[in-house]
Amino acid sequence: MLPSLQATAAPKFVEEWRRRKSAAFDLKGNSTARRTVEFELWGRRVRAYSNANLSVYSAQACNAKCPFCVEELRPASRGTELVAQKRVEADDERYFGKLERALEALRPLDPSVSVTGGEPSKDPRLPRLLRTLAARGARKRTMTTNGSGLLDVREGRPLVEWVVAAGLRHLNISRAHPDQETNASLMRLREGLTVAQLSRVAQLARAGGARARLSCVLLRGAIDSLDGILSYLAFAESVGVDNVVFRQLMLADPATTLPGPVTRFSDARRVPLESLLDSVSADPRFSFVRQIVGYYYYVEVWRCRGIDVVFEEADLAALEAAKRADPDLIHELIFHPNAELASTWQPWDGVLG
Ligand code: SF4
Repeated sequence: MLPSLQATAAPKFVEEWRRRKSAAFDLKGNSTARRTVEFELWGRRVRAYSNANLSVYSAQACNAKCPFCVEELRPASRGTELVAQKRVEADDERYFGKLERALEALRPLDPSVSVTGGEPSKDPRLPRLLRTLAARGARKRTMTTNGSGLLDVREGRPLVEWVVAAGLRHLNISRAHPDQETNASLMRLREGLTVAQLSRVAQLARAGGARARLSCVLLRGAIDSLDGILSYLAFAESVGVDNVVFRQLMLADPATTLPGPVTRFSDARRVPLESLLDSVSADPRFSFVRQIVGYYYYVEVWRCRGIDVVFEEADLAALEAAKRADPDLIHELIFHPNAELASTWQPWDGVLG
């Protein structure tokens, strides 16, 4: 998913940023780090955004089949299919050897690290992956998952305990609806956590110092209104979660996008975030915290019922435009399932080693 949301507090709400979103991004003026850094990467001088995130992209295929899947949308937005570009390094020793070397090479940048997928909670490599990141002292470690494997026992303990032991700061759990059956049908995920299991995971995470965060896509006919958001927040509170992200379905450039079910579904069911945010601003139950203007995403953080409520939208066309505007600048890093490090989500583009 998106780079980690570390933010510099904005002194006050800036209306223009809500309207212009990532078009208002100004690396020196309003980004979270406001600077770039240069360092040597495998003998090559590179320049990177200093608050860049490293995504470790799990090779494990997802067991859900969300019709709005971002993993599918990213390659589609560049005219290709996920199956055509996803290659996996099958040898564990080669995979972890390359991961160790990438983490070592990126030390001068010290990126935040997020584990994503595919579905990392079903990845047999996950306990070792988490131990590797912890041993390397990777900064601000997080993981995004549909949650389905978090209570599976791996190497003698439930996976969520490995997450806690690895010192993850956030555990992002995707859930499109509070209702079990509706969520299973929206995500096409029959083996998702039950409400009781979700509550247990949140409790175990909290006890170990990790913060569970629920991630909900805004979908016409599901969570698509302020009332829907409030009922989702009540659900989060009931399962002991104090941090929720609502995401607008990602936008992409139609001129470069391979049409398919994911893009058609996303275009048909996308809920425009901006008007919802206008309703949030007008509702005294919400208090403003901050805005984050990213190079292809825009985020607002609010507080409601003691819960941090994050609203997020992203435009993959803006990502491509930012790359074209400054092709030598590394905005983010992805360690791909084929054990290659790249500066894009396509393993054939921006390969760094
Ligand atoms: S849970 Fe995430 S990776 Fe899996 S299908 Fe849904 S959006 Fe895609």
